Amino acid sequence: MKPASNFCVAVIGAGPAGLFAAKELAEQGVHVFLLNRDVKPGGLAEYGIYPDKHKLKDGLRKQFNSIIEMPEVEYFGNFEIGEHGDMRLNELRDMGFDAVLVAVGAQGTKWLGLEGESLEGVYHAKDIVYYYNQLPPFSMRDYAIGKNVAIIGVGNVMMDIARYLISEKHVESVTAIARRGPAEIKFTKKELEYVIQNLDFDDFHQEINRFTPLMESIGQDPQKIISFFDSAMIKAEETNSDTKFKIRFLLSTKSIQGDEDGRVNGMVVEENTLVVANGDTKARGTGKLSVLPCDTVIFAIGDKVDPSFGLPVNYTEYFKNMKPKYACDGVSYESFDPSLNENVEGVFLAGWAREASSGLVGTARRDGVTAVKCMMKYLEEKPNNSPKDIDKIRKKFLENKDTIVTELDLKTLQLEEMRIAAERGLPSYKFSTNAEMISVIKHKVAS
Ligand SMILES: Cc1cc2nc3c(=O)[nH]c(=O)nc-3n(C[C@H](O)[C@H](O)[C@H](O)COP(=O)(O)OP(=O)(O)OC[C@H]3O[C@@H](n4cnc5c(N)ncnc54)[C@H](O)[C@@H]3O)c2cc1C
Repeated sequence: MKPASNFCVAVIGAGPAGLFAAKELAEQGVHVFLLNRDVKPGGLAEYGIYPDKHKLKDGLRKQFNSIIEMPEVEYFGNFEIGEHGDMRLNELRDMGFDAVLVAVGAQGTKWLGLEGESLEGVYHAKDIVYYYNQLPPFSMRDYAIGKNVAIIGVGNVMMDIARYLISEKHVESVTAIARRGPAEIKFTKKELEYVIQNLDFDDFHQEINRFTPLMESIGQDPQKIISFFDSAMIKAEETNSDTKFKIRFLLSTKSIQGDEDGRVNGMVVEENTLVVANGDTKARGTGKLSVLPCDTVIFAIGDKVDPSFGLPVNYTEYFKNMKPKYACDGVSYESFDPSLNENVEGVFLAGWAREASSGLVGTARRDGVTAVKCMMKYLEEKPNNSPKDIDKIRKKFLENKDTIVTELDLKTLQLEEMRIAAERGLPSYKFSTNAEMISVIKHKVAS
C-alpha cells in the first residue's frame, strides 16, 4: 500500500472492471468515488452470471464487499451518469476529479436491423438475462416466452439462456442458430454440460453429416466436434424437462415474420456456405431461403455501449485513442473525441465499456487494473496535484439524490436479504425492485 496521495478519481460503474480498478487505485493511495447505476455492486457478475452459480457469485460478492469497505473507496449506488441519468458526464467532470474511469459495461443492445425485430416475442439476450437475474427494472417487465424459441448466436450467453428456457420455462423446443459451422461454435464444454441432456442427438448428428463434406473440404474434422459433445455427457447435469434442444448450423437470419396480432411466428433464414479467407473461416450466403417456425426470437449476438452516456461512440464501443499517450501492453484505455481529434481529457475506459462483450470476470478484472496503470502514468504527469475537497464532492453527491445508496446502506440491505434467505431456507434471496431495496434501507436507518 502506497501512502495517501492527493489524487481523487471518479470510477463510473461497479462491475468487476470498476471494482478491481477502484481497489488498484486505493492501493496507490488514491481517493475513489465509485458511482454505480444499480443499487448493488457487481454488474454482470451479480446480474449476468447464471443465478444458481452460488459459489462463484458468493465468492465474488465477498471480494466486492471488501473493496467497498476500503477506506479510500466511497460507494454511491442507484446513481446513474449520462444524458438520462442523475448527473451528466460533463457535470461530473467539472467536480474537480483528477481523472475519471468509465467502467459502465456495454449497456446498449445490438440488433441486426432486420424486418420484424420489433414484433412481440423478439428480445435481446441481455433483457432476458437481466430479467431472470432480477435486475430492476428488467425484473418487473413481462417477457412473454412461447413454446418454440429460436436463439440467434452460439456463445456462452446463448447457452445460459437455453438453460433458463429448458430448466425454468420448460419450453417445447430451443433452437440455436449458428451463422457458421460446427467447428466455429463459441460456447465452452462447461456450459454445454448444463443442457446436453436435452440435446436432440439425432438432429445433431444429421446436421454434422450434412456438413461433413463441406467441413472436410476446408480441412475441418467433424469427428472432433462429435467428441467435444460426447465429452460433455460425462459430467452432464440432470435435466428436469422434455425440452428439445437443437443447433442449426450455417444459417443467417434475414427477417422475422409475424401473425396478424404482431406476434412472431417464424424466421426467414438463408443457408450459408463456408469460405476460408486470411486464415479465418467466413460464412457466405447461398441465396437459398427457408422459414424456421418459432414463436419467440432471442438475439444473443453480443452487446454495444450506451450511446447516451456522453462519450463519442465507435460502432459497439466508446472511441479510443488508437495512438495512446499512456498505453499499457500496447492497448489504449484513453477515451477519444474524433471531432476534436484529441483525448477526452482525463477520461479512461475499462472492461466491457472499453471492449464490449469481451471475456469473463477475470478479463474485466485485469482490464480494470491495467486501465489504472495507464491512468497513474497520466496522473503522475499532472503539474498541479493539490489536495481535493473530498467533503464537498461527497456532499454534492448526497445532496443530488436522497435515494443514493452508500456502503452502510448496502450492508443493511445485504443483512436483510440474508435474513430472508435463512428464514425461507433459500441459498440466497434478492429483492427485485429498487422500491423494495430503498424501503428496506430507509426503514432500517429510521428504526
Ligand atoms: C449472460 C452472461 C453470463 C456470464 N457468465 C459468466 C460466468 O459464468 N463467469 C464469468 O467469469 N463471467 C461471466 N460473464 C461475463 C462477466 O459478467 C463480464 O466479463 C463482466 O461482468 C464485465 O465487467 P464490466 O465491469 O466491464 O461490466 P459490467 O459487469 O456490465 O458492469 C457495469 C457496471 O456499470 C454500471 N453502470 C452502467 N451504466 C452506468 C451509468 N450510466 N452510470 C453509472 N453506472 C453505470 C452498472 O450498474 C454495472 O454495475 C457473463 C456475462 C453474461 C452477459
